[in-house]
Amino acid sequence: MSGIYIHIPFCKQACHYCDFHFSTSMAKKDSMLEALKKELVLRKDEFKDEQVGTIYFGGGTPSVLDTNEINDLIITVQSHYKVIENPEITLEANPDDLSNGKIVQLSQSAVNRLSIGIQSFFEEDLKMMNRAHNAIEAEACIAEAVKFFDNISIDLIYGIPGMSNERWRQNIEKALSFGIPHISSYALTVEPKTALASFIKKGLIPPVDDALAQRHFQILYETLTDQGYDCYEVSNFGKPGYYSKNNTSYWLGKKYMGIGPSAHSYDGERRSWNISNNPTYLKAIEQGKLPMTSEELSRTDKYNEYVMTGLRTSWGVSLDRIRLEFGEKYHVYITEQIKKYVDRDLLTIAKGQLVATKKGKFLVDGIASDLFMVNLG
Ligand code: SF4
Repeated sequence: MSGIYIHIPFCKQACHYCDFHFSTSMAKKDSMLEALKKELVLRKDEFKDEQVGTIYFGGGTPSVLDTNEINDLIITVQSHYKVIENPEITLEANPDDLSNGKIVQLSQSAVNRLSIGIQSFFEEDLKMMNRAHNAIEAEACIAEAVKFFDNISIDLIYGIPGMSNERWRQNIEKALSFGIPHISSYALTVEPKTALASFIKKGLIPPVDDALAQRHFQILYETLTDQGYDCYEVSNFGKPGYYSKNNTSYWLGKKYMGIGPSAHSYDGERRSWNISNNPTYLKAIEQGKLPMTSEELSRTDKYNEYVMTGLRTSWGVSLDRIRLEFGEKYHVYITEQIKKYVDRDLLTIAKGQLVATKKGKFLVDGIASDLFMVNLG
């Protein structure tokens, strides 16, 4: 089963920490919608043998589109691709776009999963991050959304400078009080060239503290697993039956097609990405060209990706698969490299699967990169 990702490259304002691709000018919104539809048609043969199980609207802020515009894109996918009977169709949405009327309209569309960018229920955090919504909107939109949607995920950010453990706990408790079945949660990271990086450099905001983020992750993990959520990926917690099918297929190495500026695609052998520039993207698509760069993944690239994504998930990394798919050299290497992490109780092996322990989960990216191979064909 494959997935289609559609990138909506517009946001009302720039969040201080964000380095995704978006424009705050909506002037080209209509041309962009036409271009996205055209790219879907131009690339349909890439998926002529694929069944599409998930459609994901990401961004940017897909909820800046009205329901007719979203429906139009879904109809274009359905008209040119083999979409399964009940696909998972996710819309990333920001609280300030989710009026009661919009939620009702969306619930009558083919969208059947909302991923709401709450980030925090506290006004001071939202202001510091320059989110477009306030704390009242954060709560109000969830209260309304749960009346119409069963499959809802919310995003929460932890490790925010000045956020106490108690305030973080209250954020999680608030999410739980709405009975949300899925929570994606990320540590605040400081990306170069963002407003946040510049504020920290000028001393206007204290630096992000790894120890605080680690403590917040522990609180998150313990609270949510106690409440019956599975940490099926380091940043994703879902009740059984509510895992994101779209994201799970990325982590399992399935094919996906990314439509729109900056969107990435993977066909099992090659990774490709569209240009991260709206005017250049529009011009190319208008001329019937795909503004795309791609690279073939070497065996080492695929091994590294498998280790990185696999270790972040609860399914882990199959040591047998490493031997069969990548060869003895890789198997010997990883078996040797993991010993120190197994001894420190950061990794464990269960039924041939290498998985991060509760203690190892927060450190998993660093551990995975230490297991990477370099320059082996
Ligand atoms: S709404 Fe999302 S994509 Fe847009 S600036 Fe904020 S974090 Fe970035």
